[in-house]
Amino acid sequence: MAIEQTLSLIKPDGVARGLIGEVIDRFERKGLKIRAMKMLHLTREQARAFYTVHKERPFYARLVKFMSSGPIVAMILEGENAVQVNRDLMGATDYRQAAPGTIRRDFSRSIEKNLVHGSDGPDTAMTEIAFFFNDLEKV
Ligand code: GDP
Repeated sequence: MAIEQTLSLIKPDGVARGLIGEVIDRFERKGLKIRAMKMLHLTREQARAFYTVHKERPFYARLVKFMSSGPIVAMILEGENAVQVNRDLMGATDYRQAAPGTIRRDFSRSIEKNLVHGSDGPDTAMTEIAFFFNDLEKV
């Protein structure tokens, strides 16, 4: 299995609810290494740009408002099969369909406020990492 990198975001609901440590603990216990990390507050424009793939979806405007509503934590996670390992830890988008023991199942309060984002494939991961981090910010 290849060593991969993936982008993880703790969304505004996760930061506001004091769940940063809980989420990072799950990543580290699963063997994912944090290669970069920062807290930031996206503008509406930045949130729009990050989620541009969803711009035709009915929930796009709400999602942009939510993602720019407060600070988030962005991380580069690294490890074997990191993209899928992170997706498995997160659980399904809709927490009601997420497996027991996943971050979203344990903490989400709605399909939108689902605590975490994770890249959905290695190519997306490279694009999303470049969106948030420059070379000086990576170890
Ligand atoms: P993810 O890769 O599991 O995060 O899911 P998607 O890329 O499909 O959706 C991006 C984000 O949009 C999700 O994590 C949710 O925060 C939000 N979202 C997705 N589907 C819905 C929906 O049906 N309604 C609302 N309000 N938000 C949604």
